[in-house]
Amino acid sequence: MGDLSPNFSRRELADRHTGELLADVSHLVHHLERLRSICADRPLEIVSGWRSAATNRKVGGALLSQHLYGRAADIPSGYATVAQANEAGFIGIGESTGWAVHVDVRHGPPARWSY
Ligand SMILES: [Zn+2]
Repeated sequence: MGDLSPNFSRRELADRHTGELLADVSHLVHHLERLRSICADRPLEIVSGWRSAATNRKVGGALLSQHLYGRAADIPSGYATVAQANEAGFIGIGESTGWAVHVDVRHGPPARWSY
C-alpha cells in the first residue's frame, strides 16, 4: 500500500539523500501505476525518483534532468520493455539492452535513448 497511490509511497519517490519530496509526482505516479498493471502487477522498485539539485549533481544527472521536476523515475533493468513503457504513456524512455531503465512524463516531444 502506498500513500501516493495504491502501490507507491512518498518515501519511494523521495530524494535518496535527503528523504525530501519537493515536487508534484502525481502525473508520474499515475503512469507508474499503469506500467505496473501492464507488467502483471509485479512489484516495481523505484531506483531513483525526485532529486534535489544537489543530489542530481552528485549522481551526475543531466543539467535539466526530468528527475528535478518529479517527472522521472529510474527502474530496474529486466522489469519493463521499451514497448511496455511506451504503452504506459511515458514520453521519455531511456533503455539498456531493450529494457526501460528511465521513464519520464516530460512536457515535449517523445525522447528515446540508450545507456
Ligand atoms: Zn533517470
